[in-house]
Amino acid sequence: MIQLTNVNKWYGQFQVLTDCSSNVAKGDVVVVCGPSGSGKSTLIKTVNGLEPFQQGQIIVDGISVGDPATNLSALRARIGMVFQNFELFPHMSIRQNLTIGQTKVLGRSQDEANEKGLAYLDRVGLLAHQDKYPGQLSGGQQQRVAIARALAMDPIAMLFDEPTSALDPEMINEVLDVMVGLAQEGMTMMVVTHEMGFAKKVANRIVFMDKGAVVEDCQKEEFFNAPRSERARDFLAKII
Ligand code: ADP
Ligand code: MG
Repeated sequence: MIQLTNVNKWYGQFQVLTDCSSNVAKGDVVVVCGPSGSGKSTLIKTVNGLEPFQQGQIIVDGISVGDPATNLSALRARIGMVFQNFELFPHMSIRQNLTIGQTKVLGRSQDEANEKGLAYLDRVGLLAHQDKYPGQLSGGQQQRVAIARALAMDPIAMLFDEPTSALDPEMINEVLDVMVGLAQEGMTMMVVTHEMGFAKKVANRIVFMDKGAVVEDCQKEEFFNAPRSERARDFLAKII
């Protein structure tokens, strides 16, 4: 479903991604990890065209992301993205947050958007909060709303960029639980995270990055039990 082939990207003289390749099949849960500054956010943002790249190829569901003829807004509408800092619209109620993309981007009626949005809000356990504003919710609740909002768009895949790293420790699990449920239902997911418990539980593959390159791309058992690279061993020793 997502194929990255020799992706290279520079910021001016600085090469941020070097020959990054990986494949994500339908239903795969791929955890992307690695030290801070290794290019994880940049890589995941190239997948839905949020970050341009200069060389290589990215194909998402048969669509070439780097092709200037590709309609990137249409592609983005089909891929859910959840960021570290929730990024809800602060001046809109939770219900409006859940429906605005559906009506404006997908052209759904307000009724249909409400029904779908509230079904997902219920699913993340927050139906009672539909009339509140983001600032009235905790970080963990806001992130669950952000996930519900992405799901209401019927995405073909979900991208997560450190969805729990801005949360207080006691709120991390409520967000991870929602993500585990999604993974178990077969959602195709690329997840940048340092939560190795999550990775061990639901990932089928681990992509380990360092200095802009994919250093390991393997089954999780291999990554945790017998990482091939020195850099991955160092990383695991520090994080676990
Ligand atoms: P990670 O998510 O793994 O922490 P990032 O993808 O955010 O890494 O960043 C990778 C590298 O690219 C870092 O060295 C960072 O400083 C650099 N970088 C990120 N965004 C920009 C930018 N807009 N301009 C220049 N350098 C950037
Ligand atoms: Mg990052």
